[in-house]
Amino acid sequence: MPLDNQKLLDVRSVDAPANSLPADGHGHVRDLETYKAMWKESVENPDKFFGEQARNLLVWNRDFDQVLHKSANFVDSPAWFLNGQLNAAVNCVDRHALADPNRIAIIYEADEPGEGYTLTYGELLKKVCQLAQLLISRGVKKGDVVTIYLPMVPEAVISMLAVARIGAIHSCVFAGFSPGALRDRILDADSRVVITIDQGLRAGKVIEAKKIVDDALESCPDVQTVVVVERTGKGGLIPGRDIKYGEAGKFKPYCPAVPVDSEHPLFLLYTSGSTGKPKGMQHSTAGYLLGAALTAKHVFGLTPGDIMFTAGDVGWITGHTYAVYGPLINGVTTVIFESTPVYPTHTRYWDIVDKHQVTQFYVAPTALRLLRKYGHEEIEKYSLKSLRTLGSVGEPIAEEVWEWYFHNVGRGRCTICDTYWLTESGSILGTSFPGVTPMKPGSCGYPFFGIKPVLINPTTGVEVDERPAEGVLAIANPWPSMARTIWGDYPRYQDTYLRPFPGHFFTGDGAAMDHENFIFVAGRMDDVVNVSGHRLSTAEIEASFLEGKLDNEPMIVESAVVGIEDELTGQAIVAFVVLEGWLKDKIAAGEHTVSDMSREAIQVVRKDIGPFAAPKKVFVVGDLPKTRSGKIMRRILRKIVSGETDQLGELSTLSNPQIIDDLISTVQNSA
Ligand code: ATP
Ligand code: MG
Repeated sequence: MPLDNQKLLDVRSVDAPANSLPADGHGHVRDLETYKAMWKESVENPDKFFGEQARNLLVWNRDFDQVLHKSANFVDSPAWFLNGQLNAAVNCVDRHALADPNRIAIIYEADEPGEGYTLTYGELLKKVCQLAQLLISRGVKKGDVVTIYLPMVPEAVISMLAVARIGAIHSCVFAGFSPGALRDRILDADSRVVITIDQGLRAGKVIEAKKIVDDALESCPDVQTVVVVERTGKGGLIPGRDIKYGEAGKFKPYCPAVPVDSEHPLFLLYTSGSTGKPKGMQHSTAGYLLGAALTAKHVFGLTPGDIMFTAGDVGWITGHTYAVYGPLINGVTTVIFESTPVYPTHTRYWDIVDKHQVTQFYVAPTALRLLRKYGHEEIEKYSLKSLRTLGSVGEPIAEEVWEWYFHNVGRGRCTICDTYWLTESGSILGTSFPGVTPMKPGSCGYPFFGIKPVLINPTTGVEVDERPAEGVLAIANPWPSMARTIWGDYPRYQDTYLRPFPGHFFTGDGAAMDHENFIFVAGRMDDVVNVSGHRLSTAEIEASFLEGKLDNEPMIVESAVVGIEDELTGQAIVAFVVLEGWLKDKIAAGEHTVSDMSREAIQVVRKDIGPFAAPKKVFVVGDLPKTRSGKIMRRILRKIVSGETDQLGELSTLSNPQIIDDLISTVQNSA
């Protein structure tokens, strides 16, 4: 995270615990030299490397004739595994169901603890086939887009796979989006079929999913079928259009899968919308599946009998690749978790880990920041011994949080995989390898196979060769699971990713690499602040706030930093901080004031990083604006601070719009 060269060199290196790699012969990378040799081959000879991997890890109806077709100078999206044919559902379900039908595929951990159930691979095959036939009976064909508006219930996985089984394309929309946001995604995808649920249940609260769908469909005249999962049994059906999911039970237990071409679209998925209007990324079948299979296996050290718990939603890419496709292709068990980390209490994750003997746990920093504030005592009551790898994804993870995760959850036994990737990449781009690569807190480690990360000077567009260095993070070569286009808008795809720095895929993120080539992602390019010639990442300043203490107690739960124009310094730093509960109590009791706290917070950064980094202003707020996938939306804060409150931009992806007025008045009142 630091952009300063000296600081980069000072980041401590922690050996990855050797026991986080299973002691079996499942072809995992076992030492650093092997990793380096495999990585080298993967970028120098992708045809050989990925050709072999694709034949080993995937099952094919027809072998491919060519591994990679790419444009000169990477100006177009690539095609992989040309003329091969396969089916995603067969890869995820059939082969395991036929070999070992009683193996557990899904552990459903329902909203209320104790109300879930498990599904074996044999049962999963039957359910996928039955729903596939129901969809066929409603006219769904190869190439049609089916919108899935479901929370984390097993039917979400079954729906994705049933759609893929018949060669249709799924488009999952996070079941928390408003009718308007859902409508836009249905129309953009020209989807005629929607799968939803009567009501969702989350943290004991009812989500009126079907009502939201009904509202959205008022302006989607082409939708002819709505399949409704019955979760609570409440709410009616619209005759002719709606059909109960349970009707699938009338179909026979097996139906053949439709083999599709390697490049046939498997799904569309919209990005989180942290920086603007979400983009509908289109992923291919073979390349995506290979990326999911290979990363899930190597990054998490998956081995038969493992139980992977990815606490991300199927509405986001993490849920697709690591709650559904990655674990299932590898034939392990995936935990599908319907609730939140704090329901019924804040130990819910640890209850799940011990109860199901989870081996891989994968979550976003936003949840870790939340759980860390509950302290150590209760978590110490849990064994957590089954865990081998702990993943983090979605935002940079601050050192304080990393240490907490490593020691309090992992007990020093687990590798922390800080995984850097994007909806567009389909699978992990940079990470630690369990038991193999050393870890540096704040770094997402080394590139995954086939990924050649480079730093580019944003002004000159030239690659920066020296190390340590910082710059724009770009990928210098095509990889199998990269998205092939923005649905319906290939020119926008080229303009966004391939044209900014010709010859490279542009990630939109800024990063540093140290002398050992560890990658430190600083955040969006916009999130690099330049104060009097010092380049600072907002993530670095945010990490510093977390270290702040008052009377030996942590002060700040989380924060967001933005750069604003400043006549004197070029840019100045403004921060928004959320205080720990005990400090809020003290303020309520009149023992501290908000302005004291804001002054204290400025001191924290001044002492930790230096006076030049001291924020010009710190606003104490109740909450930060976040996307529905839990990321801080700094662009909104930037607009509020610069007084452009009428230009907040696309807000449909904001999960907590109710806080905006408070943020605006906090900023205005302090002016
Ligand atoms: P949009 O593209 O619509 O603005 P988004 O970029 O937040 O939304 P995602 O594809 O969900 O949508 O997120 C990818 C981004 O998340 C990356 O570009 C990066 O900024 C951030 N990110 C993901 N993982 C990490 C990580 N391990 N460390 C730092 N940043 C990360
Ligand atoms: Mg993005």
